[in-house]
Amino acid sequence: MTLAQTPDRTGSRRADPPHEQLCRRCGVSCHVALPVRERYVVVPGLHCKFLEEQENNTFGCRVYADRFEQAPWCHHAEIAGPLGYLAQDCPYGTPAGLGKVRVSEEEFAELWPELLGKIRFWGVPTYIDGARLLAEVVRRSGGSWRLEPWPGDSERLRLMRGSGGLA
Ligand code: SF4
Repeated sequence: MTLAQTPDRTGSRRADPPHEQLCRRCGVSCHVALPVRERYVVVPGLHCKFLEEQENNTFGCRVYADRFEQAPWCHHAEIAGPLGYLAQDCPYGTPAGLGKVRVSEEEFAELWPELLGKIRFWGVPTYIDGARLLAEVVRRSGGSWRLEPWPGDSERLRLMRGSGGLA
């Protein structure tokens, strides 16, 4: 049995169109969220490398049919909800006090210095879209940035000032 087939990640259903139609394609669950001011705020551009932005502010997964094989970090909604990995107001359900939030651009801009500090302090998972994150960091903070392996942790990258790096 591969990791991708274990029930604790994939839930009991591999494909269920009525269940999947509940999804509003907000992409929040596929973003990394960071704790700030008692909420878990998603960072635009900090997301799974298989997530793609689509029209009308929606998102899609480029490997959806095979996501549990190709993305060992991905969780079925049944599993992700109780763990707080879905949006706070997700149609699949999130326990009170858990869940990720996407805030307005105005509020995000105010939170950005704090969030950038946390990104640099904790690093980011290796499964993210590094180029997309760097573009977002440059757009918001200017200068040049790079991602490097985190010393002693093969599943984490660190964000550093300066060019070069992995992405
Ligand atoms: S693999 Fe999973 S986390 Fe990544 S984009 Fe697809 S559904 Fe989202």
